Amino acid sequence: MDERKRLFLKRDPYSPPKDETLFLRSVKALAAHHIASCPDYARIAEAAGFTPDALRSEADLFRIPVLPTLYFKRNRLFSVPERKLCVTATSSGTKGAQSLVGFDRKSLLLGIGMMFRFFRYYGVLSPVPVNYIVLGYEPSRHTQMGAIKTAYGTTKFAPALHREYALKDTGTDYALNLDGVKRALLRYAKSPFPVRFVGFPPYMFFLAKLLQNEGIRLKLNRRSMILLGGGWKQFSGEEIDRNAFFRLIEDTLGIPRERCLEFYSAVEHPMAYVRCREGHFHIPSYSRVIVRDPATLLPVPDGTEGLLSFVTPLVTSMPLLSVVTDDIAVRREGPCPCGCGAPYFDLIGRAGVSGIKTCAAGANELLGRQP
Ligand SMILES: [Zn+2]
Repeated sequence: MDERKRLFLKRDPYSPPKDETLFLRSVKALAAHHIASCPDYARIAEAAGFTPDALRSEADLFRIPVLPTLYFKRNRLFSVPERKLCVTATSSGTKGAQSLVGFDRKSLLLGIGMMFRFFRYYGVLSPVPVNYIVLGYEPSRHTQMGAIKTAYGTTKFAPALHREYALKDTGTDYALNLDGVKRALLRYAKSPFPVRFVGFPPYMFFLAKLLQNEGIRLKLNRRSMILLGGGWKQFSGEEIDRNAFFRLIEDTLGIPRERCLEFYSAVEHPMAYVRCREGHFHIPSYSRVIVRDPATLLPVPDGTEGLLSFVTPLVTSMPLLSVVTDDIAVRREGPCPCGCGAPYFDLIGRAGVSGIKTCAAGANELLGRQP
């Protein structure tokens, strides 16, 4: 399995590894591991008539049984004994069904190593202490939501002087804390240290709008940064115009567009995709994106809309090798005018699945309750 280290701990996440078959070999080895160690997955593979030998080239990756992220909300599939799981996280969906995802020590260390490399590439890793505004939930004992852990984990990439949460833990639930956030922000603005905003875009928008309405224009430390996760399309109501959004941020906080990073990730696919200035999510060499026909789940040609699915050999503890989300996307080959040569995907929207409430949608709902 040490081959996977070579794949995931590369310095430049977007340049393909010199060893062209490294990805395929890692996927094959992991598929064999899950079939041998997870009886439910073995049954799924058998029913699909899949064996790792079917993977002769990367064009065969679509043949790996693809599990919908929804599947993990109803089923628990592990390829290691549960006592070996050192971290578990649940997907967003504050009220509805949640996926439970667990990582063994090896997968966790590999994932953390990958994230450190990845965040260093984007200049997110920094020794300079920062003040954080977390535009999301405060970690608490009464929830295991992955988005909370991700947001909290993101506050570890630069030492934290202070963290203020937009959603404060009340012990049993969450309360919106925009006033507290505003007070903290005004205090941070007087300090010589950078400020980092981490969390959901609608909160960022709401906060910036609040400052604008009150005529507050800050000039935060130039090393300040905004790290946003969660889509734009899944919010009820109209989509906020991205360009207008970033202008608003620059006007109210003094943070330029290039210091705002937007991420895409899913609990069932623990990997980060960053949107480039052209609006595309480039695909690092750690994973492959397959866009599928919603009816047949077969791959559609590049440039065609379909269900966004991923293949990555990151996780040993669960068969998360090939998962399909309910997001609609289009895949295209690079290069991109932004300078990145890697292929990318564009998010188009969310498939109409009822009963799913994402973290971001839940956040939007809370905002909606505000006067
Ligand atoms: Zn690009």
